[in-house]
Amino acid sequence: MRKNCPHPPQILDVIDGTASDPPEVLSPDGELREDQYSKHRHAYILNRLPLEGRLRHNCLVTYCEYVLTEKAHPLHRAYHDTEYGVHSADEKVLFERLILEINQAGLSWETVLKKREGFQKAYDGFDVDKVAAYGEEDVARLLGDPGIIRNRLKVAAAIHNAKVVQELRKTHGSFAAWIDSNHPMPKDAWVKLFKSTFRFTGGEIVNEFLMSLGYLPGAHHPGCALYK
Ligand SMILES: [Zn+2]
Repeated sequence: MRKNCPHPPQILDVIDGTASDPPEVLSPDGELREDQYSKHRHAYILNRLPLEGRLRHNCLVTYCEYVLTEKAHPLHRAYHDTEYGVHSADEKVLFERLILEINQAGLSWETVLKKREGFQKAYDGFDVDKVAAYGEEDVARLLGDPGIIRNRLKVAAAIHNAKVVQELRKTHGSFAAWIDSNHPMPKDAWVKLFKSTFRFTGGEIVNEFLMSLGYLPGAHHPGCALYK
């Protein structure tokens, strides 16, 4: 693991977010760019330190390092070790990941992981055909379910995107085959493609979705055992 953070794990009282790598976090004049460090989830920064402390130590902690700390919820460790950055062609896996990433927008990945079972129950195990067939009653049920993120736009996006996956089956054979037919592409091209294909798929969501499946680089830090 990376050894440049001078702080012991006990004080890794972190917030959910920061930049993908240190240079993005500091502007050329050394100021901490709040906008940059708060928008990514796969690296973390010590939020209990005063601003000067963060700047002095540049204490970025990657997701890979964070999952090894005592503070990290065990769900993170399991996700990191067995799923993050791992390729899958399973439609349910891909659909679940897309919906979870969409639901993470504005929230922490930890919140999503903690509600994952709730999501799986509420969304019929992420069965694309079942979700695509959801009507008004299902929307009302989902919006009343405290086990998931109750957000009208996110619920609507899940149903809409299930229908899109059904279309991709017809045109490309499967969701995975559609991704594979476009791979590799630079991130910006992926974002453009996703935006014109799915709903609620902004740059961060698309980046995390593809990174988490190994299509875009960056899931694991070079110091991590799972880095390829
Ligand atoms: Zn890792």
